[in-house]
Amino acid sequence: MANQDFLNSTNKLFDQALSFTDISPDLAKRIRVSNSTYTINFGVKLRDEIHTFTGWRSVHSEHFEPAKGGIRYDINASQEEVEALAALMTYKCAIIEVPYGGSKGALKINPKDWTKSEIEKITRRFAQELIKRDLIHPAQNVPAPDVGTSANEMAWIADEYRRIHPTDINALACVTGKPIEKGGLVGRSEATGRGVQYIIREFFRHEDDCKKAGLKNGLKDKKISIQGLGNVGYHAAKFLQEEDECRIICVMERKGAIVNPEGLDIEKIKQYLSENGTFEGCSEGKFESNSSDCLHMKCDILIPAARENVINEANAHAIKAKLIVEAANGPITFEADEILNERHVTIIPDIMANAGGVAVSYFEWIRNLRHIRFGRLEKRKNAFQFDTLISAIETMTGKDMPEKFKEQFIEGVNEIDLVRSGLDDMMCEAYQKVRQSMIENNIPNIRTAAYKVALDRIATSYDSIGL
Ligand code: NAD
Repeated sequence: MANQDFLNSTNKLFDQALSFTDISPDLAKRIRVSNSTYTINFGVKLRDEIHTFTGWRSVHSEHFEPAKGGIRYDINASQEEVEALAALMTYKCAIIEVPYGGSKGALKINPKDWTKSEIEKITRRFAQELIKRDLIHPAQNVPAPDVGTSANEMAWIADEYRRIHPTDINALACVTGKPIEKGGLVGRSEATGRGVQYIIREFFRHEDDCKKAGLKNGLKDKKISIQGLGNVGYHAAKFLQEEDECRIICVMERKGAIVNPEGLDIEKIKQYLSENGTFEGCSEGKFESNSSDCLHMKCDILIPAARENVINEANAHAIKAKLIVEAANGPITFEADEILNERHVTIIPDIMANAGGVAVSYFEWIRNLRHIRFGRLEKRKNAFQFDTLISAIETMTGKDMPEKFKEQFIEGVNEIDLVRSGLDDMMCEAYQKVRQSMIENNIPNIRTAAYKVALDRIATSYDSIGL
């Protein structure tokens, strides 16, 4: 039922934005519904028994190919959830202008019930089924990690693809989020959390937006609550704490939350959680057993980075944050969104806030297709030019350039610098264009403006092929 709610919410948010576009009802329907969803039941012999698993791969849109979207492993996964997530991928890709349609996959499984080698067997079987139907393919459908999956699963999927298509020179581009040594890209695992940091920074560059949200004096020292300390939540929390000097005052996890008004040390609590499976007993802060109650805690910025539907009709009235940044997909239901808008809580929606993952996946896919790392050709040339420039400046001024500047120039640009620079640019531009559309079209909130930007771009793309 909750998953049906998620799909309904996504469709209602879509419909709400439609009234700000000139898209005809028939084209709107074409864009809204998923193109196809493939359901598969497959068996794997484990522990002397055949276990049957159910999985899905949904393709929401093919207005650009490949379609792109993660694969999650979750016991509560369902077809409706996968379809809602695939739709969000379509809108997200349109907002950050990457040439992809939207897709998503899921396997109904609790990864914690199985050993690593069992998960490998299950993943390889799942991948075989999807590969033989071109639902994993460098030119048609490219998965990535999501909840419950990581670089390991992506490496096994890439390996299965290569075995089935041994002569495909672009085989590595069939999946992103791979380990670095298996064709992955530096900065991919941090990308979604990093993107959340960049979009928050961009928000704080716009004084009017901060004023509207009731936030003053920049990002430094802002009090932040985060739900979920997984891939996305951990990286967002870590970078906001270490680089922007924010105070992470509360982290909510499945089995309770940890609170410290002075700010939590993210590395320490992450390590404690990995070792103990809970924050209970952690000396870094006060343990709260009812994790979701902490969503109501007073803070400047609330970052839900765990699951969908966590802010709903039941608790939206109690939220005290001034700004909510949706790092997770669909954490706020349609009804809660209405309540929060009425209460003038500013929301940076999922289809912008967590687009950093697909942005860097795009870089990884390009790198795999180019078969050369970013910056390889120009690095030495740039270093030589900078060296010449420094010599020229020193000769002309008669002074030595301070060592720290010299080192920065001569060291040149590494691949991680290029990845972060590209990501930063995409997140900032997405925010700026959505903001501009919001102002020009008198749209009441960022989410509706983000949907409008996405829908207009998708409609133009369909139009240009005569649909
Ligand atoms: P993850 O599995 O690494 O982390 C999720 C974390 O949330 C886990 O630590 C889990 O214990 C915690 N959690 C689950 N339910 C919770 C609850 N009810 N209360 C508190 N904590 C809870 O997953 P992830 O990759 O970090 O993804 C998180 C969200 O971000 C999902 O909505 C996902 O679709 C979205 N997302 C992920 C990526 C990516 O690159 N991984 C990209 C875009 C969006």
